[in-house]
Amino acid sequence: MIAETIKKRAKILSGKEVAEAIKGKVAEEVRNLPFRPCLAAVRVGEDAASKVYVSNKVRTSEELGLISEHRHLPAETTQEELLNLVQELNRRDDVDGILVQLPLPKQINEKEILETINPEKDVDGFHPVNVGRLASGQNALVPCTPAGVIEILRYYDIEIAEKHAVIVGRSNIVGKPMAMLLLRENATVTICHSRTKNLAEITSQADILVAAIGRAGFIGGEHIKQGAVVIDVGINNFSDKDLAREFFDESEIEKRLKTIEKRGFTLVGDVNPKEAMEKAGAFTPVPGGVGLLTVAMLMKNTVEAAKMRRLKEN
Ligand code: NDP
Repeated sequence: MIAETIKKRAKILSGKEVAEAIKGKVAEEVRNLPFRPCLAAVRVGEDAASKVYVSNKVRTSEELGLISEHRHLPAETTQEELLNLVQELNRRDDVDGILVQLPLPKQINEKEILETINPEKDVDGFHPVNVGRLASGQNALVPCTPAGVIEILRYYDIEIAEKHAVIVGRSNIVGKPMAMLLLRENATVTICHSRTKNLAEITSQADILVAAIGRAGFIGGEHIKQGAVVIDVGINNFSDKDLAREFFDESEIEKRLKTIEKRGFTLVGDVNPKEAMEKAGAFTPVPGGVGLLTVAMLMKNTVEAAKMRRLKEN
């Protein structure tokens, strides 16, 4: 008898499916509200990526029945002008969510702008009041990307309580709030960063491993426990075809090489997908994973903010 070895491959956790489900719920909630929530998106200057992100957010708001207001200011906008706009949006009763797209031009003090946004309208969850509320276990508007990760885990019925979750990355927008949210769900949480020693030793103990580093394919098989749930938050461009062969298996490589030919680059997360597919139990792909949740969660936060402020819910 010929012994057959069947290689197990990780289950793909589809961000698209989860994002569609969330957007469907948001649209239904909006239909049932006595008013239409309004998201104001502020963009300063001509950063190409910011333009794409904001138009995506505006389009999604409209698709779900929210009102969206896009305010685009020139690159030479002063601190005072931007502060005035934020204060005007704070005062307006019809505006429920304020989003200031980052990065801002050099002359602008980002921290002061973000701290001027009324915490009740802070749909990105970056204001220190919301950060503090989350850290102290109170109801808060929570940053969209880590909140999206929790939604993926919930959607696929992945247990969080009592599991060991390891996060690589400690930024204010992903790593730290991710840790708070996993803690709130009763995971045992470890945070790693660039000064962590013996990274693979720690990450390979994780039942749930979240990578938010910003380095293409950095997390390899040696970092992953057999059967772990691996969540890849990273989004990195690269164009090296040899690297593509290290990252993608035969089911994917031809498509990726064509994308590099056509667009000049392809996307990969912070996890080596080929190795994750062989070692993990479940894995979020890039593209098609966590990235798609961010806008959906922004819509959800806008409706939450509107309900909390206008209906005094929660
Ligand atoms: P930051 O650059 O702000 O933070 C990166 C973190 O990774 C830091 O805490 C850093 O440690 C840590 N790090 C860097 N190198 C290493 C290393 N060699 N070993 C261990 N840790 C390391 O990035 P962000 O958190 O903003 O973003 C992370 C990734 O997620 C990026 O790829 C970004 O594009 C993506 N992203 C995706 C979003 C989405 O919508 N899906 C939204 C936001 C981000 P230290 O603090 O010590 O410097």
